[in-house]
Parts: sequence; structure tokens; C-alpha cells
Amino acid sequence: MKIFEKIVPLQKEINELKSNNQTIGFVPTMGALHQGHLSLLTCATKACDCNIVSIFVNPTQFNDKRDLTHYPRTITRDLQLLNQHGCDIVFTPTEEEIYPEPDTRMFDFNGLDKVMEGKYRPNHFNGVAQIVSRLFDIIMPDKAYFGKKDYQQYIIIKHMMHKYLPQSDIEIISCPIVREADGLAMSSRNMHLSTEQRQAAPVIYNTLLEARQAKKKASVQEVKKQVIDKINSHPLFHVEYFDIVDGASLQNISQWNQSKNIVGCIAVFAGNIRLIDNIRFNE
Ligand code: AMP
Repeated sequence: MKIFEKIVPLQKEINELKSNNQTIGFVPTMGALHQGHLSLLTCATKACDCNIVSIFVNPTQFNDKRDLTHYPRTITRDLQLLNQHGCDIVFTPTEEEIYPEPDTRMFDFNGLDKVMEGKYRPNHFNGVAQIVSRLFDIIMPDKAYFGKKDYQQYIIIKHMMHKYLPQSDIEIISCPIVREADGLAMSSRNMHLSTEQRQAAPVIYNTLLEARQAKKKASVQEVKKQVIDKINSHPLFHVEYFDIVDGASLQNISQWNQSKNIVGCIAVFAGNIRLIDNIRFNE
């Protein structure tokens, strides 16, 4: 496994691979790696000759600077995990390397960034688009892998490619949510949960599963209320939003027959730790 901090030697390596007709799979991450990240690496390894994982905690996507400061950083363990899981190249740039000058680009996502995560984390997706487009520029992969855990992010990246990089051949691939044995979606933030919060956290996914069952006999509004009330009734958790949306437009639906691709997206606070998850309503 090769590790690069600088763009120039990384690109030299990439050019060599490309001149040997090697296909490149790319997995962007912010580190504090877990099986969710590693599942993306596995997908990349299966489909591409060479895989590259980036680890960069991107400051421009944090609207809350305290969240940025507290974001877990576990680089030694991350590198060990990547080495054990067949990673070929790791890119661990500094902030100066990625943003030698401030990135002032503003993206327009046709409102996809104004709902759910975007509503509560203003400019978050603009920062995501800045870093992803910058990394795509540097690495020029054949395929790039994103987790459905961040469902809205995946939809916005696809939109960004279509609107801002229409000539690009980079294929955007989404991979399923990886969960702990008890159903909690894996997240770098889970390590900050207290023992009590961690023990109780499966209530989030269990409630989403119940919601999918309830769809058979309850309206969209009733299911929404049921999910919010159930999680809020737990003393350790507070729902920030739970939206039932069309999986492409991300707009709220009001009837189950309004879309064939319905996704329920949730953000829950456990103390000041923010957890997100989602579930497809059409199996
Ligand atoms: P992050 O390091 O949180 O920016 O995540 C990097 C990538 O890993 C993103 O595409 C995430 O959607 C994906 N990811 C994070 N957690 C999971 C998970 N539990 N299952 C699948 N993918 C995940």
C-alpha cells in the first residue's frame, strides 16, 4: 500500500497506472474508518484494477466548527485497516494541499440541498461538492464509491456530475448501508456515544423497520408521526427531522402511490451527537 500526502507524486503514480490501462476505483472518506467505509473499498477492489482511498476531514463541509474540531481522527488505525483490506493507494492530503486558496465556488443543486440535511446544515453540500470535485480533478478515477448511508449526499453528487461535469466519465456508484449486528448504521460518530446511548441507539433503525411495516395500513402523515413520537419518547434521543421523500427529487410525498422510489430519511440527536439513517419503503 502506497501513501501519498502530496498531489504531484500521487498524480505521477496515477498517470503510470493509466498508461498501463489500469482502471481506478476511488473511495473518498474523512477517516475514522469502519466496516461501512471498508465495504466501499471492497466494491472498488472487485470492479477496478487499482483502488485509491482518500482520508481528509474537509473543513468546508462543516457548518459547525465545534463538530469539525471534535471529528474523530484515527489515522494510524485507519492505515492499518486499509492495508489489511487490500487498499492500493491512500491519499492523506493536508488542508493547504487541497485548498492552497480558499474555495469560493458555489454550486446550485436545484433545491436538492435545501431539504433534510441541507435544511439543518446550511452550505454542507456546497462543501461536499467542493471537496469531491477537487478530489475527482486530482485523481480522475473511473469509478467513485459512495455509501447509501448518506443518501442525500449520493443524490447530490450524481446531480453535480450531471450539471457541472457533464463531460466526465467518472461513474458514481452507491453501496448499501452497513450496520452493526443490532441494526445501528455504522458511523464514525458512534464511537462518541455513551454506553447507555449506544445500547439504546438501535431504536432508530428498529423504528424505521416498523415504519416500513406500518406503510401497509397507515398514511404517510401517520407513519411520519409514529416514527417521530416513538423516538422522541425515548429520553436519550431527539429527532431533528424525519422526512418521507421521493428518492430522486428528495421532495416530501403525501401519498404512498406518489412514487415507486420512496425513502425515509432521519436525523436524531443523542445528546449532541447527531446520527443519520434512512430506509427504502419500496423493497
Ligand atoms: P465519511 O467518512 O463519513 O465522509 O464517509 C465516507 C463514505 O463512506 C461516504 O460515501 C459514506 O456514505 C460511506 N459510509 C459511511 N458510513 C457508512 C455505512 N454505515 N454504510 C455504508 N457506507 C457508509
